[in-house]
Amino acid sequence: MELAGNMGRCFVTGAAGFIGSHLVEYLLAGGNAVTGYDNLSSGKKVWLESAATNRQFQFVEADLLDEARLTGAMEGHDVVFHLGANTDIPLGNQDPRIDFENCIKGTFNVLQAMRTVNTRRILFASSSTVYGEHPIRPTPETSGPLLPITHYGAGKLAGEGLVSSFCDLYGMRGWVYRFGNVVGPRMGHGVIFDFIRKLRQDPMALEILGDGNQEKNYFLVEDCIEGILHASRYAGEASCQVFNLGTDSTVRVTEVANIVESEMGLHGVVHHFTGGDRGWPGDVPIVSYDMHKMESLGWRARASSAEAVRIATRRLLSSAQPVG
Ligand code: NAD
Repeated sequence: MELAGNMGRCFVTGAAGFIGSHLVEYLLAGGNAVTGYDNLSSGKKVWLESAATNRQFQFVEADLLDEARLTGAMEGHDVVFHLGANTDIPLGNQDPRIDFENCIKGTFNVLQAMRTVNTRRILFASSSTVYGEHPIRPTPETSGPLLPITHYGAGKLAGEGLVSSFCDLYGMRGWVYRFGNVVGPRMGHGVIFDFIRKLRQDPMALEILGDGNQEKNYFLVEDCIEGILHASRYAGEASCQVFNLGTDSTVRVTEVANIVESEMGLHGVVHHFTGGDRGWPGDVPIVSYDMHKMESLGWRARASSAEAVRIATRRLLSSAQPVG
């Protein structure tokens, strides 16, 4: 918890979400006062139950689109961890307004509020989706042009641009983290969650979206949080910096299925593939990160992708969280 010490008064958007609720617990354990801000669209108040017992914590149930409420709630804070966003990528593909509002406008409102109340540091949860189907693999942070293939990815890329311009123009500091797939208890979507749900319904057969050869990186939520805090401490004084945050190891989707099945004690499950090289429109079949930048700062995820999938599956299965 050393990394989480002395952060100042922390404002966490998306605090009731999967990553946000873990982050709040870390920041409180580090002795910081924390305000969580969330509209509970995908987050759950129950995930903040342990935080709520800490006097240093307060929760504001409100929307990033409510500028007045956001600005008022942010007054007196030193640092913003901006995680609030639409995270249902297929839903955003159906209605482009969802990512425009919750990712682009939401991030703009956060930065405007920071400017108004003079909060000077922002740590922004971006995503590997900003890279789209980038031809350079492993993909370093310096790759370009960045051509996302979902509105979610476009929303994150726009958010990165806004963080950069606000930092440069108004003397703020920004840390932008392009997360790979973060896994752990409380996650509400993603391949592990999906497979557990399906296998509980039918332990004999599993539908796998695409051809099963999609290959991604996975890392544990605690590694994600420690990576965020590590870079914010050790990356130097530049006004705005961008980091890939994940691992350079990858796992194929069929291997994820095998791990989940073995953790559920299932044997001989028949796999049915929906076919094609990707699971859904906007799915990037192969995501491979260049992690040199974070490694040069002395950080590396403790678990490889395969280990992270196994540990996250085990934790999800043993948690009280309903899946399915
Ligand atoms: P999540 O859905 O659990 O958390 C997002 C939170 O934001 C939710 O609690 C939701 O209620 C809140 N929210 C959404 N719109 C809001 C609005 N308009 N006003 C206020 N609150 C709002 O997802 P997560 O996995 O915890 O993701 C956290 C952040 O990390 C997101 O910004 C996401 O895009 C980013 N990210 C996550 C992953 C991953 O693998 N989980 C990967 C890349 C990036």
